[in-house]
Amino acid sequence: MKRTLYFVAALLLASSSALFAAQSGAFIKPETAAKTIAALREKFPAQSERITLGVNQAARVWTKDDGSAAEFADFCSANFLTGAALDTLFDKIEEQFEYIDGHFTALYAQTHRAMDVNTGPLHPADRIFASYSPAAHLQEDMFATKLAFSVLLNFPVKTLKQCSEEGPSWSRRQWAQARLTKLFAYRVPAELEQELAKSLAAAEEYIGSYNIYMDHVAGADGKPAFGPGLMLQSHWGLRDELKGLYSSPAANLDRQKLIQTMMTRIISQEIPAQVVNSSQTLWNPVDNTADGAQAAREPDTRYKIWLHNFKTYQLEAPYYPNYPTRRDRTFNLEKEIPEAQAQALFEQLLDVGAAGKVGALIKKRLGRDLLPFDIWYDGFKARSEVPQEKLDALCRKKYPTMQAFQDGLPAILEKLGFEGDKADFIASKIEVQDCRGSGHAQQADMRGEKAHLCVRFGRDGLDYHGFNTAMHELGHTVEQTFSLYEMDHHFLRGVPNSAFSEGFAFMFQDRDLSVLGMDNPGGKTAALKTLDNFWAAREIAGVALADMQAWRWLDAHPNATPQQLKEAVASAAKDVWNKYYAPVFGVKDSPLLAIYSHLLNYPLYVPNYPLGHIIAYQLEDYLKPRALPAEMERMCKIGGIIPQEWMKQAVGTGISARPLVSDALGAADGI
Ligand SMILES: [Zn+2]
Repeated sequence: MKRTLYFVAALLLASSSALFAAQSGAFIKPETAAKTIAALREKFPAQSERITLGVNQAARVWTKDDGSAAEFADFCSANFLTGAALDTLFDKIEEQFEYIDGHFTALYAQTHRAMDVNTGPLHPADRIFASYSPAAHLQEDMFATKLAFSVLLNFPVKTLKQCSEEGPSWSRRQWAQARLTKLFAYRVPAELEQELAKSLAAAEEYIGSYNIYMDHVAGADGKPAFGPGLMLQSHWGLRDELKGLYSSPAANLDRQKLIQTMMTRIISQEIPAQVVNSSQTLWNPVDNTADGAQAAREPDTRYKIWLHNFKTYQLEAPYYPNYPTRRDRTFNLEKEIPEAQAQALFEQLLDVGAAGKVGALIKKRLGRDLLPFDIWYDGFKARSEVPQEKLDALCRKKYPTMQAFQDGLPAILEKLGFEGDKADFIASKIEVQDCRGSGHAQQADMRGEKAHLCVRFGRDGLDYHGFNTAMHELGHTVEQTFSLYEMDHHFLRGVPNSAFSEGFAFMFQDRDLSVLGMDNPGGKTAALKTLDNFWAAREIAGVALADMQAWRWLDAHPNATPQQLKEAVASAAKDVWNKYYAPVFGVKDSPLLAIYSHLLNYPLYVPNYPLGHIIAYQLEDYLKPRALPAEMERMCKIGGIIPQEWMKQAVGTGISARPLVSDALGAADGI
């Protein structure tokens, strides 16, 4: 896991100059913009193009509260810069923003510290501080001070298309400027942001309290099929229970089938309303009765909530002239991978040939034909050949305290191949903390601050599981250190998104045993890991495709009813199923991919998961046969440019699912 703190909730990229032309609905009228442009052109005849672009960029987001039309013209006249003054403006902004971002991140880490770090029992005040978001108003403040307008007036906003096509020939400084203008290119009114937050919070609440009392779920014999006290949240809890049942697949098959039936009842909303979050009645999912009788179903609430999110996102459209739909915005502005490219990557990953081989292997291992819920097959987990107790004892002896692990960092880095000085330098920029959760890494945003490596230390020190997690988080923090301390521009710090950081984290995690002085398991263990990774990536890629298809349908049917949306989602899930899963599973028309809760509370976030699998694996695959330290340092210096260009500079080709697919094919052969 990796945490990234963005100083503006949505970092948004902008559109081409034509679309930035002052609009008739905007506060600054086209006549005002034209007059301002003419006056500036007289003063700077050689800067005609920059003036038109800059004035229009600023005019589009200037509101009544920012000042009158005359004040706008005066602002432009006084703040349009050229030559050395323009260069200095950018240098000053970068210098100040390193300070601003760096301190906001440090402030965030400090106010959340008690929640994250094991500081003893939580006090009510800890929760209050943890709800504080120090940088929440920064964008607003930057418009209020007019710094944002100065940026838009002087530097060009770049679209994803421009970044892709022209980016390869840009200087580092031009990339950094493109990242700066992205911060202010769009200005959504705060009331609207709140409206959206409210809609998402309602979805979160619905999902958060969607529990099923499993001891009130009846099996074929009419008696409760699960143990007393078991309450599961949909869909994670249900899915994880189903996964756990693979420990004895034959004995647990009926219960797995029962969970699958429950899921389909939730998707179709045939589930009796009274069994959701309630232990008052005994639900029989197969004949769908409550206490033996027919009962009123859930009234399509699931799709009402989805629709409400869609309609709230529609309200933002006027503020994104080039990106009218939520799909446009999430792919082009947030993920920075065009929807069509993401679609093609997922289809590559869903390759039926490789899946057929892996599916046949699962079938053999289970001793039965595949069923739809086997998308969650959990039997590829590799077990270490060294007994767990031996590993635990070794780790505890080496790292009996948090300080011992902190002091041990340079030696671990040297084992990974980093030279002494470099290892000492990196270790000096990482602070180890005792975690409340299982582990995470928190980057720093200014030089002088340290990245935080948070991992759980038991009373006897770090056990093997903790050490394995610590290695993963170390991968994140080493990336964070290089991409901050060795970066040429503040606005290019970091990596394009968390998937890139995960690639490094997995590399470190994979080398945990060799760091402990043991041989890393090769052969079968590595093959099992690849198969597990492939099967999980493939499962979530299907959900992503169904999610995208459902949103495309919504864009074409904005006045849909919840019931119509329900049918469209089921048919999207079945379409994807029939194309990519039915040939492998031998079962048609399963709607199971639509059970994901993220579809409601994280609209269009699901595609990030398969993208993450693909990117992280491609990076691992490239690094595996190479010397990690030098390659990693080189890659981390590329910084926060767009994902496709980063990958090209890092490994020589764009993002591709091929390494994972072909390794899975090879692994299936070798098992
Ligand atoms: Zn991670």
